[in-house]
Amino acid sequence: MSDAPIQTVPLATELGLKVWHTTSWPSHISGMILKNKDKGGTSGYAIFVNGTHHVNRRRFTTAHEIAHFVLHENMIGDGITDDALYRSKLTGGIEAQANRYAAGILMPITLINQALSEGINTIEALAERFQVSKSSMSIRMGVPYE
Ligand SMILES: [Zn+2]
Repeated sequence: MSDAPIQTVPLATELGLKVWHTTSWPSHISGMILKNKDKGGTSGYAIFVNGTHHVNRRRFTTAHEIAHFVLHENMIGDGITDDALYRSKLTGGIEAQANRYAAGILMPITLINQALSEGINTIEALAERFQVSKSSMSIRMGVPYE
């Protein structure tokens, strides 16, 4: 098991996905996964991430697109685009599943427990350790976030 923060691009690479950052998109697009002969990895798929977003958000987007590949390869066809709220042509239930899987990639429970045992036990400190947003960490820990 890797240490926190989990590195999303090497994980994608291991799965045969190539990750690209795009700086020409409007901020309401988070990312996409596309079948692309030239830009794709050994799986044939490429992940494109909005490079203008904050690094924590880019990491979540990469993990979210990895989730679509792992869980939904049979549904994504030639590709899908996720907006800022991680909505796409797939159903809300499928998107929620991708979000949960992405949270599991970025915040594995074993590493959370390890951090807690080291005394890292606030949402802020955990979010910093795992390089995720405070809202992502709050959801993962099941505590309200305001
Ligand atoms: Zn999605």
